[in-house]
Amino acid sequence: MHLAHFPRLHLAHLPTPLEPMLRLSKELGIDLWIKRDDCTGLSTGGNKTRKLEFLMAEAETEGADMVITQGATQSNHARQTAAFAAKLGINCHVLLEDRTGYNNTNYNQNGNVLLDHLHGATTEKFPGGHDMVVEMERAAQKKRAEGNKVYVIPGGGSNPTGALGYVNCALELVGQANERGLRIDRIVHATGSSGTQAGLVTGLAAMNADIPLLGIGTRAPRAKQEQMVYDLASKTAAKLGCPGVVRREDVIANSDYVGEGYGLPTEAGIEAIRMFAELEGILLDPVYSAKGASGLIDLARKNEFEGQRVVFVHTGGAVGLFGYDFAFDHENRWVQV
Ligand SMILES: *Cc1c(COP(=O)(O)O)cnc(C)c1O
Repeated sequence: MHLAHFPRLHLAHLPTPLEPMLRLSKELGIDLWIKRDDCTGLSTGGNKTRKLEFLMAEAETEGADMVITQGATQSNHARQTAAFAAKLGINCHVLLEDRTGYNNTNYNQNGNVLLDHLHGATTEKFPGGHDMVVEMERAAQKKRAEGNKVYVIPGGGSNPTGALGYVNCALELVGQANERGLRIDRIVHATGSSGTQAGLVTGLAAMNADIPLLGIGTRAPRAKQEQMVYDLASKTAAKLGCPGVVRREDVIANSDYVGEGYGLPTEAGIEAIRMFAELEGILLDPVYSAKGASGLIDLARKNEFEGQRVVFVHTGGAVGLFGYDFAFDHENRWVQV
């Protein structure tokens, strides 16, 4: 496995820090660390930037002058793609699907949407339940007919090229742990379109790291999520020249923390946001990282990680907080002294 075989634009701020979370560790009774992939540098950071290093390099190799992608209204992937495109001087068009039905102004115009537009991307809105893959093809055909050289990036940047970014993260994380003599017993993170987990599991398997990985689901039920991750991991391993290296049993997702649906905040997620913010000064987002963290917190309280050193991969998304301000009651922080 040699990542330098693949075109890549070195634009992310890497390596991201690996830090202990002392107060949260004490609270949960485990040795909890955090891999700060919320600090990848591009337009407030996040996990899509690692994937885009490889995807955008491929777009450039193909001579693209426009990228098209899709996501939910408050898509962190859309925002990071828009920023990367701005940096490269290519156009970016984003199809945004309304997966929540929220019609308040901040959800639809603040947070990631504001940043999409600040980076110069154009956006197009779709009601929930559309076949966004078909819609992206339609948009790409139209833009090509107008003379643009279009490169289509799948939702979340999750294909074998994008997943290479998280193979790279696995190498980086294990490298940091080895340097410090830090034995990692478990890695936990939020999983969605599956590129993050697929890349991590492939990288860990290819280097025979023997560190169990747990994805906390944010949308699909467990069986579907695991199949998506396994399929993408298998393709990623083949692309890397180590086909078959990921075993089906290496792919573990837990979708018990999705709540009512994708993009709908949960009570446990809000509690996780408060705990990370108040105990560690770290911001999570209600759609992904908070649900991931809520799974981590609940499982820790149930002694699933007893005696273990756990690394939480923070996949970013805090900008989404400004689209979800309605989910937080903070009136009681106004006091008169
Ligand atoms: C996209 C995203 C995820 C999920 O990563 P996938 O590679 O899509 O599974 C997790 N957290 C945040 C903040 C994200 O934006």
